[in-house]
Amino acid sequence: MTNLSAPQRRFVVTVDDPGGLIQDIPTLQRVVDFLGEEGAPASFFVVPRGEGDWQLDRQEEWLAVAQQAERHGHDCQLHGLDHAGCEFGPYPAFIFALGGQDPKERLRLAREEFGHLWRREVYVEKLGTAIEIFENAFGRRPQVLRTGALSQTPELYDVVADVGMRYVSNMIVDPRGWEYIIGNYDAPGDWDPDVPPAPYKLTSEVINLPIISEYAWKLTPEKIEKHLALGLEDLRRVYEADGVFILVCHVQEVGAEHPHSRVLLHRLLEVARQDYQVTFMTVRELIADIESGAVRVVDHKPKITEGGYYSGN
Ligand SMILES: [Zn+2]
Repeated sequence: MTNLSAPQRRFVVTVDDPGGLIQDIPTLQRVVDFLGEEGAPASFFVVPRGEGDWQLDRQEEWLAVAQQAERHGHDCQLHGLDHAGCEFGPYPAFIFALGGQDPKERLRLAREEFGHLWRREVYVEKLGTAIEIFENAFGRRPQVLRTGALSQTPELYDVVADVGMRYVSNMIVDPRGWEYIIGNYDAPGDWDPDVPPAPYKLTSEVINLPIISEYAWKLTPEKIEKHLALGLEDLRRVYEADGVFILVCHVQEVGAEHPHSRVLLHRLLEVARQDYQVTFMTVRELIADIESGAVRVVDHKPKITEGGYYSGN
């Protein structure tokens, strides 16, 4: 018997970039093996198209690994079309900041190079192509869109609805994960007040499944304790807020030959399991819980800006 009074704490692992961006099969396989050992089903946000004519629906060997992963409880969702440049708008400031330049200058350059693509008709075409390739590969449509490096403009979400998708997973609750990546441990800020740690309506038709943060990008052994501490703080705060913990990590880091990302994630998942008795689930399962009413879509007045965070920074 389940104890009905105990809250179910949901933990969703999402893994970005396999496919067109990171084509290497052994890297993907290492991540699948790691998650299998952890007993944590995950959602892979796959890139349908990439360099060198790489296209998801024509990669039999790659697809065999992904389909085998799905048979073991994982699922695949959509990560833009080709992840090249600012595909669906500017990146959030904290992602531009990874490039080392002033984020405002990076925004100016991005607008110069890609701004002509940040419009409705181009979004319709790109998303239509991405969905078609995904569908040819997996025999079903993706349920959730996450854009490459979280590029966005407000128009994107209207187009998402127009092409028949109802879920995105595109905004960050705790941008400190990225501040930590560039070594800003002293004044990293705090959670974004515009992004609640639970599913909420972004538009009348589209629900956002917000990402809590990334803790395991380009780690060195010395960084592990600090980044893990941030993850553990977020874990506590998300469940205190009765939220859903959606973790993002990246296939090229978790599947790297060095173990640093896996070491951190193993420890984070272990605390989630032991101290919080979480239920690990995919976004597909989270959506089923939303649609059955088991997970509440919280009331929140959405704020959508170009690149997410520019207006505030
Ligand atoms: Zn990505």
